[in-house]
Amino acid sequence: MAAARILIVEDEANITRLLRYNLEKEDYRVAAAADGEAGLEAFRREKPDLVILDLMLPKLNGFEFCKTVRRDAKTPILMLTARREEVDRVLGLELGADDYVTKPFSVREVLARVKAILRRAAPAEEARAVLRAGKLELDLDRHEGRLNGRPFPLRAKEFEFLKCLFLAKGKVLNRDELLEKIWGYDRSMDIDTRTVDQHIARLRRRLGSEAGRIVTIKNVGYRLDLD
Ligand code: CA
Repeated sequence: MAAARILIVEDEANITRLLRYNLEKEDYRVAAAADGEAGLEAFRREKPDLVILDLMLPKLNGFEFCKTVRRDAKTPILMLTARREEVDRVLGLELGADDYVTKPFSVREVLARVKAILRRAAPAEEARAVLRAGKLELDLDRHEGRLNGRPFPLRAKEFEFLKCLFLAKGKVLNRDELLEKIWGYDRSMDIDTRTVDQHIARLRRRLGSEAGRIVTIKNVGYRLDLD
């Protein structure tokens, strides 16, 4: 897959420099603009996969930038904001930013969010299929699990677990991989690998006669038996 292109629109040169350095280290392609108008030009020119957008900008501020971009593009936007009170507005439907970090931020946090947003935005080719293993089906379009053709209750996280296991195509996923895939940057929350075990236990109960499809590999993790 080609490297994702990221546009940074930020008037503080040292922040741009810091972000650029770290993003390029992660193999992203980075463009930058120092005010809102230059940002829009760069946006049209670069067609980025994601924009890191400062809220307070000369010429055209982040709100206006966001509105303009949103008129005809769904490009994910990660907002940098200095004030918590702005967060509601930033994430509001009005603007439609995808996520935000408040300044001062840690570079690690920004990188994690960039990664998570790009992953969510990636057109998943699998996302059209219905995944099947025996009597168990996972319908990605309808966000629904079915046993013997009948829908059964699945919480959002349980759905994600099943999806990860399906997409691993029978390969073992260790607990850390599952945490990373399912919780992503929310790792800072009170989550550890035991959480994975708890979710798997609950998921197995939901799977009834197909529970055995989730196979525990001792001291390693889990895999889904597809045959
Ligand atoms: Ca600023």
